[in-house]
Amino acid sequence: MPIAYPTDPDCIFCKIVAGDIPCHKLYEDDLVLAMLDIGPIAPGHTLLIPKGHYPSLTDVPPDTAAALGRALPLLGQAVCKATDTDNFNVLQNNGRPAGQAVFHVHFHVIPRTADDARTTPPAGSPGTGLPFDWPATELDPDAATTLAERIRSAL
Ligand code: 5GP
Ligand code: ZN
Repeated sequence: MPIAYPTDPDCIFCKIVAGDIPCHKLYEDDLVLAMLDIGPIAPGHTLLIPKGHYPSLTDVPPDTAAALGRALPLLGQAVCKATDTDNFNVLQNNGRPAGQAVFHVHFHVIPRTADDARTTPPAGSPGTGLPFDWPATELDPDAATTLAERIRSAL
């Protein structure tokens, strides 16, 4: 019997899951689907999505989260092999201020090479970094104790 999952008729990724909009499908199982991103920032840029409509990672139920977690290393390996690199980023945005544009949760799998043209190396970084600022600061020990306690309590 097919697994039932929530859908949103206005969601572009739900339409792709339903087969109403085409995609370059790379992988699917009962719970997840992977496809090429329509606006790749590198050749092989892939999206892994749950078949169910969950706007944010915090909405994803454990069985679907496990399926996403199972698929990610497999996809990373395949995307790297196909694009002849050993390097990739996994990126996942939740909420508009975090850069989310499509509100059906998804993981970006982005192959990377040493000569990526589109990236600016963050100051002091040995690699080519990510195509956005990484404004690292130093962890304040007092603030860290308080923050760690607040996060542990929220778990
Ligand atoms: P976000 O900013 O929400 O993390 O990323 C959304 C991603 O979805 C973008 O990289 C964008 O190129 C991709 N995307 C948007 N619409 C479609 C579509 O119809 N098909 C595919 N394959 N990717 C899409
Ligand atoms: Zn959706």
